[in-house]
Amino acid sequence: MHPGASPPPPEPTAFDGRPGLIDTRGRALRDLRISVTDRCNFRCTYCMPAEVFGRDYAFLPHSEVLTYEEIHRLAGLAVGLGVQKLRITGGEPLIRKALPDLIAMLAGLRTPEGDRVDLTLTTNGSALRALARPLAEAGLNRITVSLDSLDDEIFRRMNGVDFPVARVLDGIAAARDAGLAPIKVNMVVKKGENEVSIVPMARWARDEGLILRFIEYMDVGTTNGWRLDDVLSAAQVVSAIDAEMPLEAAESSYRGEVASRWRYRDGSGEVGVIASVTQPFCGDCTRARLSAEGKLYTCLFSAQGTDLRAPLRGGASDADLRDLLESIWSARTDRYSELRTDATSRLPRVEMFAVGG
Ligand code: SAM
Ligand code: SF4
Ligand code: SF4
Repeated sequence: MHPGASPPPPEPTAFDGRPGLIDTRGRALRDLRISVTDRCNFRCTYCMPAEVFGRDYAFLPHSEVLTYEEIHRLAGLAVGLGVQKLRITGGEPLIRKALPDLIAMLAGLRTPEGDRVDLTLTTNGSALRALARPLAEAGLNRITVSLDSLDDEIFRRMNGVDFPVARVLDGIAAARDAGLAPIKVNMVVKKGENEVSIVPMARWARDEGLILRFIEYMDVGTTNGWRLDDVLSAAQVVSAIDAEMPLEAAESSYRGEVASRWRYRDGSGEVGVIASVTQPFCGDCTRARLSAEGKLYTCLFSAQGTDLRAPLRGGASDADLRDLLESIWSARTDRYSELRTDATSRLPRVEMFAVGG
């Protein structure tokens, strides 16, 4: 350095102490959720209600969906900028053709420190029997299965297509046989629909050694008719379980963990609750979401994303795309859940099945 010259600015560091892209509130970009399709074979009442997503609904034409090569390129750039975890989602990701091919491509990515990325997937479990093994062999590390009830009647009603719960349970068994452990199970709790399933699900997951997380029903998208009154709070979920199987609060495993963890006092395991509505965690939110058509969203409740497909298909260099990602993340101010009211739930926003939750 020349005498008198000022030292170079320090590398920005986030609350986890690692270098990376930092937004206006000090949050690093660590987690990228990639939606591989906007289509789904379910019509869950809280996500894609059947009345709205009927036969005539116009899903994206194939040409508008990112190819696996395009996804791989963007994911690689994001990993170079500090992303450590990739989650494949949808729509229903397992209905996209040859998904293990994409998993194999993403499993080859390395962080700047030379580490593998944590590669996981969220699915409704309906096609896991056939796909669990090919996915595991392609390099998938873990899996999350969404399951809202063990009661066949309630489950069939909530998934909107009369799909039997036994097939999802069989899919979970296939995932376990394929070595995709630990398996997480997500249950969205909607008042009046499945609160009677809370305790049976907790007992079952504990007995099966699955990591169960209860999710508060959120005002995602614009079609589910969300009302605050339909939300059963995480605190109510915890107290319902505690009354039958006593719980105590457990420490979170890392900063930015969205689930609060509760341990059974008899040492038999734990459950998590994701209180996105009643106890927002925007301050620790390190996630971006890439939609199937290649738009990047920095919040689940964003009205608009930034189109990455046009530059990608228009010949942008890696440096151009990196600059774009940097400029999007460094301008990020999102904290929707901290500001939520019944009125904000009527603002325009992206649909959940488009960005994958
Ligand atoms: N189809 C896959 C599945 O259901 O697991 C992946 C996509 S789905 C949109 C991702 C997650 O979002 C699921 O666990 C689902 O239960 C959750 N989800 C969808 N709508 C929701 C809502 N209104 N409130 C809370 N969670 C929701
Ligand atoms: Fe499909 Fe998942 Fe939405 Fe249910 S939650 S409709 S399975 S995308
Ligand atoms: Fe992150 Fe937006 Fe959810 Fe807040 S509301 S936790 S910023 S996705």
